[in-house]
Amino acid sequence: MVVDIGGTNIRAAVVTPEGNILARSQSNTPVGASIEQFFGVIAETVQQTGYFFDGIVFGVPGIIDANGVVRRSANLSWTNISFLDEARAHWRCPVIMTNDVRLHTIGESRFGYGRGEDNPWIHAVIGTGIAVNLVVNGQIVKGAHNAAGELGHAPLEPGGQLCGCGKRGCVETVCSGSAIQRMKVALAAVDGSMGDVWGNFADKLAQVMSVVSMWVDPSFLVLSGGVVGDYLHWGRRFENAYKQYVMRPGLPEPSIKISKLGQDAPFLGGVSLFCNGAENT
Ligand SMILES: [Zn+2]
Repeated sequence: MVVDIGGTNIRAAVVTPEGNILARSQSNTPVGASIEQFFGVIAETVQQTGYFFDGIVFGVPGIIDANGVVRRSANLSWTNISFLDEARAHWRCPVIMTNDVRLHTIGESRFGYGRGEDNPWIHAVIGTGIAVNLVVNGQIVKGAHNAAGELGHAPLEPGGQLCGCGKRGCVETVCSGSAIQRMKVALAAVDGSMGDVWGNFADKLAQVMSVVSMWVDPSFLVLSGGVVGDYLHWGRRFENAYKQYVMRPGLPEPSIKISKLGQDAPFLGGVSLFCNGAENT
């Protein structure tokens, strides 16, 4: 059983080791509930699939330490929650947990474009927020404190919009679904053009991705997440700006790939972790 916990929805799926999804279910995330109430909602969601299971893999948004403690989850308003211990006590079966975006990247790595790729590649997941993982030799770079990938909270517009993390002007306040939503509302007030919103988003995202690309020289970038569903509106501008910003005289540019796994990526990542006997990661 794989459970992907998001700021809006909890999604569960029963997945075979080959990556076939047998059943799915979904509930609203009870943000602000106690951990016991939270587990109650997860238990109902899991039960709705109609399957028994031998183990559970959780994808949880936020910074999770090596002991499975959620140090900080802005989306769930959690600080220092011993999620892994509590989940093991609750379900009494093998439990694995990792960051939700990592689960996406593991899915992409095993079942998507990353399959068989040894060179570095970059995975940007742009949904409500944005996170960016670097994969080298098929392994996600986790960092010294298991906190790599939080590019969404690097400064892009100092003094800009307030971010969920408490800082201002983070990448996430400009290059994310929630940022686009906010700009749409602002536009409606002044009767502006949606093209400007997409143009600004595409240009800023290209700046961010070019910085990462110049640094690590990836084979390719994979873009995932809800905002990719609107790629028609911003993709061409993003690709043009990215090519302009990435300076690689005489070398091929990293190609840009749009994930085909969509919302199934975390489910596939989860089963891959479980079948490889991984601990929390
Ligand atoms: Zn932030």
